[in-house]
Amino acid sequence: MARLTRSLFLFSCLLLILLARIASAQPVVHHDIAVTVYPEEGHIEVEDTIHLPAELATKRDLTFILHAGLEPIPVEPAAALTRLKTGVRDGGLEQFHIRLPADGNTVTLRYAGPIRRPLLSTETKQTIGPVSPAGVHLSGASYWYPVFGGELVSFRLRARLPEGWRSMSQGTREARNTAPGEALERWSEHRPQEDIQLVAARLHEYVEEQGQEPVRAMALLREPDRALALRYLAATRQYIELYSRLLGPYPYKKFALVENFWDSGYGMPSFTLLGPRIIRFPFILHTSYPHEILHNWWGNGVYPDHTGNWSEGLTAYLADHLLREQRGEDVVYRRSALQRYTDYVTSERDFPLTEFLARHSEATQAVGYDKGMMFFHMLRRQLGDEAFLRGLRRFYRDHLFRRAGFAELRKSLEAVSGRDLETEFRQWTQRPGAPQLAVSDVRALPDGAGYRLTAVLEQTQPGPAYSLEVPVAVQIEGQERAWQTTVRMDASRLELNLDLPGRPWRLLVDPEFDLMRRLDRREIPPALSQIFGAEQVLVVLPAGAPAELRQAYRAVARGWAQGADANAVQVRWDNELEQLPPDRAVWLFGWENRFRPQLTAALAGQQASLDRNRVTIESRVLRRAEHGVVAVARHPHNPELPTAWLAYDRPQGLPALARKIRHYGTYSYLAFAGSAPDNILKGQWPVADSPLWVEAAQSDGATAPKRLPSFAPRPALAEVR
Ligand SMILES: [Zn+2]
Repeated sequence: MARLTRSLFLFSCLLLILLARIASAQPVVHHDIAVTVYPEEGHIEVEDTIHLPAELATKRDLTFILHAGLEPIPVEPAAALTRLKTGVRDGGLEQFHIRLPADGNTVTLRYAGPIRRPLLSTETKQTIGPVSPAGVHLSGASYWYPVFGGELVSFRLRARLPEGWRSMSQGTREARNTAPGEALERWSEHRPQEDIQLVAARLHEYVEEQGQEPVRAMALLREPDRALALRYLAATRQYIELYSRLLGPYPYKKFALVENFWDSGYGMPSFTLLGPRIIRFPFILHTSYPHEILHNWWGNGVYPDHTGNWSEGLTAYLADHLLREQRGEDVVYRRSALQRYTDYVTSERDFPLTEFLARHSEATQAVGYDKGMMFFHMLRRQLGDEAFLRGLRRFYRDHLFRRAGFAELRKSLEAVSGRDLETEFRQWTQRPGAPQLAVSDVRALPDGAGYRLTAVLEQTQPGPAYSLEVPVAVQIEGQERAWQTTVRMDASRLELNLDLPGRPWRLLVDPEFDLMRRLDRREIPPALSQIFGAEQVLVVLPAGAPAELRQAYRAVARGWAQGADANAVQVRWDNELEQLPPDRAVWLFGWENRFRPQLTAALAGQQASLDRNRVTIESRVLRRAEHGVVAVARHPHNPELPTAWLAYDRPQGLPALARKIRHYGTYSYLAFAGSAPDNILKGQWPVADSPLWVEAAQSDGATAPKRLPSFAPRPALAEVR
């Protein structure tokens, strides 16, 4: 549950998505809600005056869904409610038929009762918070107000809370009053929302002192911590300014950091709900936090419709990718995204972006976030930064507080660029899968004063060819920086013919990972995602380890075997095996593991060495007595598969270590220390043998230098101010 690390937490933000959606009609239901919250009893008491738009009010079969057991009663005698026997969904919900007074479009309902929907794990699509003494979290997914199905809502909300409590909702806080024994807060949002959120708890509030209109930064913490709050207020200001400049004005009057009472990372309209441990990690301020702020444009400003959730890919691109780009780390970021797609998205787990709604596994994340992010990167490269941003600004301006899909995005980008993007949107959003590239027959030919390079470029994926703009780079004799261009490829085979100013040593195809594609195994370093995404895994336990440690290793392996989704995880002792099977990924556990020498051999090409009591990785010495170590190498009998080694001589620390490494999918090696234990080292092995970096055959037999060229620097999409 706890998202303790950067790599997974970046993606853990979830949007609460209502179950039913209507694409074309976007009726707005207005709620005037007075709610009293009784945390000790787990109850709420509500009076809701509902104003229905004409298209709903005139419907004969008007039904709504409400949390079960709240016993709604209409206040006006002319309105009539019938509980429908059928149509009860999800166990905890009830459906009602409502008949409005003849000439009315307004009805007031009173209801009260316990909200007993369980707190679901963050691993699932939706989390529905409880009404409890620790805190309250009500949202559209808890059906704490009547939901007619697919409508957008606006609201005024009066919340009566216990003394010392504070609440948070979308939009503007209009008032806060306290009286003996209670606190009363009023919120309102008149622009259409996807649902109505009410978060409440005993919280300490910090508001930006120099609160510059029109946007106010707020932080609500469970314990007083002024220094922490001020850091968040400053970051809020910084990122709202950045994105307002880039995309158009921030759509709300405030943005608040709210400390949650369980570990979570949710981006809500105009606030974010982050767990108590997460908000204290310093890196969150400049990774996940800007991602949540940016969701106020994408996801909580313009709402994704039922034709696919584009908002995670776009938010990942303009937050996570942009911040890495500003630090010059964007190539590694894109390679890691493609690596996750390559490792986690097998053909059975693949689906088109138009079917992505929310992340609920590594594979869905690799499509919705990573493939989505790469799609926007390719659009930007094709249109140029200026047109790309103008198109996004136009999309935001035209669809703010409305539902929109890939079709509307396409229209906006086409309108500003004058380009037809039908092919791009079709092949990247409606088709599952990704292209795979291969290069062959690379030759250098002297040609007059210069040289010519010829080569064959192929798309090797099953199915039709993609239409691609393939970046190619050529390393030229005597030049530090590569010669770079882009070639159009609309068929599965392309004969390259490049005229060059000097002798070409080497052809590099898509060397900066600008294309969405399935990577060749040799383009990426062995990494944990490869073993976590493997179809079949064997865990080999050390029979020679002390009893307590044997038990701890076995418990970890059994946990993985039971938790396996598509993975078939087998567990064996090392003394039961003659050799490692070549047909599956292998985990070796323990310093005592008798197959450890095979891992030592497999790591020989890397900057690592392993002996009986210590590992040295990139000149860091990790000692057996102090450190937990994880290292991934290629399988000794099958280079397509990984072998990973996990060793920690402290049995009490093993369960936590085994949990934590799940969040480090793109890394080749990790080290942990301390009682938590905490990560102290992480990294990827360098890549040396990519099949897309090919030396040209020379007519005079000359051979290329080992050293690879550098590439032209690229400005980030936006600079930090
Ligand atoms: Zn997100």
